[in-house]
Amino acid sequence: MAGTYYRIKCKCGNEQIVFSGAVLVVNCTKCSETLAHPMGGKAIIHGTIVEELA
Ligand SMILES: [Zn+2]
Repeated sequence: MAGTYYRIKCKCGNEQIVFSGAVLVVNCTKCSETLAHPMGGKAIIHGTIVEELA
């Protein structure tokens, strides 16, 4: 199953693209806040999903 990419907005205002099937923890490049972590092959998103990318 192909994953989806999300544009995630961190609480610090930084936006980053996160893959929904991420297998590694994704941290904000600005403030190091955790934006997503893998759970059963699917990323748990902690930031705000601004946009879903095809
Ligand atoms: Zn941040």
